[in-house]
Amino acid sequence: MATTAFDVVGGDRSIVVARINGELRDLATEVSDGDVVEPVGVNTPEGLAVLRHSTAHVLAQAVQTTFPEAKLGIGPPIKDGFYYDFEVETPFTPDDLARLEKTMVTIIKAGQRFQRRVVGEDAAARELAGEPFKLRLIGSEGGADVMEVGGTELTIYDNVDAKSGERCWGDLCRGPHVPDTRYIPQNAFKLMRTAAAYWLGDQKNEQLQRVYGTAWPSKDELKAHLTFLEEAERRDHRRLGSELDLFSFPEEIGSGLAVFHPKGGVVRRVMEDYSRRRHEEAGYEFVNTPHITKGALFEKSGHLDWYAEGMYPPMQLDADVDADGHVRKQGVDYYLKPMNCPMHNLIFDARGRSYRELPLRLFEFGTVYRYEKSGVVQGLTRARGFTQDDAHIYCTKEQMPDELDRLLTFVLDLLRDYGLDDFYLELSTRDPDKSVGTDEVWVEATETLRLAAEKQQLDLVMDEGGAAFYGPKISVQAKDAIGRTWQMSTIQVDFNLPERFGLEYQAADGTRQRPVMIHRALFGSIERFFAVLLEHYAGAFPPWLAPVQVIGIPVTDAHNDYLQDVADKLRARGVRIEVDTADDRMQKKIRTAQKSKVPFMLIAGDDDVAAGAVSFRYRDGTQKNGVGVEEAIDEIVAIIASRVQV
Ligand SMILES: [Zn+2]
Ligand SMILES: [Zn+2]
Repeated sequence: MATTAFDVVGGDRSIVVARINGELRDLATEVSDGDVVEPVGVNTPEGLAVLRHSTAHVLAQAVQTTFPEAKLGIGPPIKDGFYYDFEVETPFTPDDLARLEKTMVTIIKAGQRFQRRVVGEDAAARELAGEPFKLRLIGSEGGADVMEVGGTELTIYDNVDAKSGERCWGDLCRGPHVPDTRYIPQNAFKLMRTAAAYWLGDQKNEQLQRVYGTAWPSKDELKAHLTFLEEAERRDHRRLGSELDLFSFPEEIGSGLAVFHPKGGVVRRVMEDYSRRRHEEAGYEFVNTPHITKGALFEKSGHLDWYAEGMYPPMQLDADVDADGHVRKQGVDYYLKPMNCPMHNLIFDARGRSYRELPLRLFEFGTVYRYEKSGVVQGLTRARGFTQDDAHIYCTKEQMPDELDRLLTFVLDLLRDYGLDDFYLELSTRDPDKSVGTDEVWVEATETLRLAAEKQQLDLVMDEGGAAFYGPKISVQAKDAIGRTWQMSTIQVDFNLPERFGLEYQAADGTRQRPVMIHRALFGSIERFFAVLLEHYAGAFPPWLAPVQVIGIPVTDAHNDYLQDVADKLRARGVRIEVDTADDRMQKKIRTAQKSKVPFMLIAGDDDVAAGAVSFRYRDGTQKNGVGVEEAIDEIVAIIASRVQV
């Protein structure tokens, strides 16, 4: 009998596939002497992806068992799970998903083998005559990008019953899969939700129904994942934004366009004020530019060539048309700005510049508008209008290493002040097929960025070929309180715009030189950063950022005036305090304050008034009684000033 990879490395049920001579293959693959066969466990990224994709097959089988008319789309593994697309008459309901899960368990228990079979193109077409989408994949639609085809040969995987050897179902797929369905733990997968999805992601194509599922090597891992999702849901900034009365997206204004309410406005102002102060100290100069501009500016910058899809359509202004409709004077197209850079370039170029002025660091909280498709708009993290903490730095080539070094340190320090402290850096390098600038400047700038990144002693991940066409980039990736990664700041070198705008400065030797331009946004956008912090803190902002820092809670109405006096003293020291004088009982007021996630409560009753004291209650529920008023005020002021979380 022929030897298989299973004979060499299988047996342990945590081994789901093998790497044979470097390629991921089924364990049933025959091997010969000299082949290098390595086990791939379900706890590796590849093994996990195979488990999830195999679960997608079981889902598809369950769907076609339950809904024989359903046609198959594609079913790849994704982060944390898998999906499978189906063409069905009516969308699946939650009840359908529960039924499908049961059928999946039956299939898993049956221990059907995933059996690979090579088929010729004609034979595959005949066999899949009832599957229009699979036929289109064979006809090479979608190319090699999908899991189903794209190997060197077409293969169908048959699900074969363990006992009878009978074929139960099959699917066009290049594999690999787990050896049999029993490798999929029946208590560690779940169908999560359905969504409409276009065939191969193209809006021009048919709309299919996508079923999302998650699958894990063990029940405990599934449970941990579901708990994580619940936690993420609890922290969802859109939900907290309305619960804490911070911001909203009024239907009357339109999708992706937020309004900040007074409490959200306070947080935002404090975020901005601190950022402004730090930028001032770091030698930035503040500028302001308009929200709209003539199209010619974006022609010059190139945005209308390569960014038009992300821009709102133009408004035509100043046309002169007579009563008969004859155009006496053509109008001019004005655009909402999607970026601030071209305007900052005009400020640089407003007069002659000397090397003595460099580095010139122009900073603006610049509001920009980008047309995002309605499907991708998401709360404050993907909005259609937002304010960038945008700066453009113009320096000489010689200044670039120092400037990048300083910049990266500045960026990381500032992010840490806002309470993020788990970072890694990503360096995006040149895509030689689409880039401007010479090899020499790319190599030099990329190397300079790499050196600056290495000095920070953070993990550096390479994003080879991922840079924009105009220059290399470093991005700061931050992990939040529940381990999610957010792309925060970006530092982008630009060889293109200084050229297009003909920017120059006079060097020490009197010659005219082109400056290096660096774009950088630290928050990315204020709105997005606001959302990240809101989710990171689950709404419980550290005292320095909290919209209301202290709530005064009188035990009875008789203590209102006493607490108002304490409140006045705190206000005089810049603390944001409210006294809850509503008709509610004290316990209810404490619960209200807890729900609104206020950092400190000062409670006062008869004893406190007599002693000139307060009861000091923290967000975690601990309480100190009989604290002198001045002492309480000093403690609150000190904690706020330190910007720590409590
Ligand atoms: Zn497959
Ligand atoms: Zn820019």
